[in-house]
Amino acid sequence: MGSIPVVVGGSIAGLSCAHALISAGWRATVIEKTAGPPSGSPTGAGLGLDPQSLRLVCRWTSDPNFLHAATVPLSIDINRVTDSKRKVSRTLTRDEGFNFRAAHWADLHCILLRALPPGTVVWGHQFLSFDVSNDKSFVVTKSRVLLTDEVVEIAGDLLVAADGCLSSIRRHFLPNFKLRYSGYSAWRGILDFTGKESSDAIVGVRRAYPELGDCLYFDLATGTHCVLYELKGKRLNWLWYVNGPEPEHKGSSVTIKAGNDMIQKMHEEAEKVWVPELSRIMKETEEPFVNVIYDGDPLPCLFWDNVVLIGDAAHPTTPHGLRSTNMSIQDAGILGYCLEKWGLEHLSMALEEFQTIRLPVVSKQVLHSRELGRRKQGLVVNDQETFDPMTATREDSLQLQQRRMPYFEGKPCTI
Ligand SMILES: Cc1cc2nc3c(=O)[nH]c(=O)nc-3n(C[C@H](O)[C@H](O)[C@H](O)COP(=O)(O)OP(=O)(O)OC[C@H]3O[C@@H](n4cnc5c(N)ncnc54)[C@H](O)[C@@H]3O)c2cc1C
Repeated sequence: MGSIPVVVGGSIAGLSCAHALISAGWRATVIEKTAGPPSGSPTGAGLGLDPQSLRLVCRWTSDPNFLHAATVPLSIDINRVTDSKRKVSRTLTRDEGFNFRAAHWADLHCILLRALPPGTVVWGHQFLSFDVSNDKSFVVTKSRVLLTDEVVEIAGDLLVAADGCLSSIRRHFLPNFKLRYSGYSAWRGILDFTGKESSDAIVGVRRAYPELGDCLYFDLATGTHCVLYELKGKRLNWLWYVNGPEPEHKGSSVTIKAGNDMIQKMHEEAEKVWVPELSRIMKETEEPFVNVIYDGDPLPCLFWDNVVLIGDAAHPTTPHGLRSTNMSIQDAGILGYCLEKWGLEHLSMALEEFQTIRLPVVSKQVLHSRELGRRKQGLVVNDQETFDPMTATREDSLQLQQRRMPYFEGKPCTI
């Protein structure tokens, strides 16, 4: 019975996993509930890829143009403080050895998908449940075909849960695991400035942020912070984290569509806090939306028999260390490496090694991201005094740098 691993979830972790399995000499079927690949209005927003993830994506897609066609360099990591009264900013830290690249989620998804053999992803299939055979040699999944309402079974030697931060497969093993509300939400948006390169807004923002196109800017004010960077295709990506009680939203999504009143209020607040060049970019952005920010405490393990968790299912994280997509890609890379090394006959050894390599790395990275977010939002970290960028010492400010992330250089997960 079954010789193809079944992957649930066709986002970045699931598609990366299909590539890693194929590179390891296996095959893969990916079950995805959405009706088809994202099309029309762009789905998602920006993300930062580290050198290890970039290498893996280039290897899987055999696309030498990927870097230049879809990404923009983020060589510099800058933290600045904004004096909200005077509307001026100054640099707190500057790291010129950052070496990430920025991509749009939909571009990365499209590149990964295009490079897979046709038919790898079965769209419009909502995974419902699974059964592990008594001898643990295979797993049978049940999914509902959303178009016909028919329930179909797909069997495999291995079930990979890449079904995101609200994973139902994780819930099966860890029913008491709860996502932790961070204490803040993020306004997010992308300004497409095609044809508006010479507008006052774009000329102004380039003057205020002269290294856009090569730099990841963090602006901090007391109790809040913002992120700004450029994406391929004349797009500016921004986020603004705002402290507050947990907003009400549908349990199946962490994204909220904002109404006009909410957006208007956000614009007014932005004008009070940020330099005018940044609040102008927020104002000119169509359809900004809100992400409620959650993470989860590190899991005790990443696999049970022949079911393994990867990506956000395995380690929901806050975005401050730019880890969620990178961890997903690297989970997939390491899983492929372990499966190739041990083969199907030693599946449990492969999963054990996967867990031994990845669990310490992802656990530390999730907790560090949590701390970083709390520090930047002026929230208490480890019972210490809160961080205020207006009065912070040089040593305190250095804690904000991305390179403070555990395993920043990629070891020991480099293949
Ligand atoms: C549409 C979309 C846009 C995103 N945009 C961004 C972005 O701009 N920037 C950023 O940093 N991160 C973005 N993310 C999140 C980012 O992909 C993840 O944080 C990270 O890459 C880890 O990915 P993941 O594949 O583990 O989880 P996710 O990206 O959350 O993907 C989980 C996948 O599983 C599928 N799924 C869940 N349950 C079932 C089920 N029962 N049956 C079948 N399929 C199921 C979901 O439809 C989804 O495709 C986006 C995610 C999605 C789904």
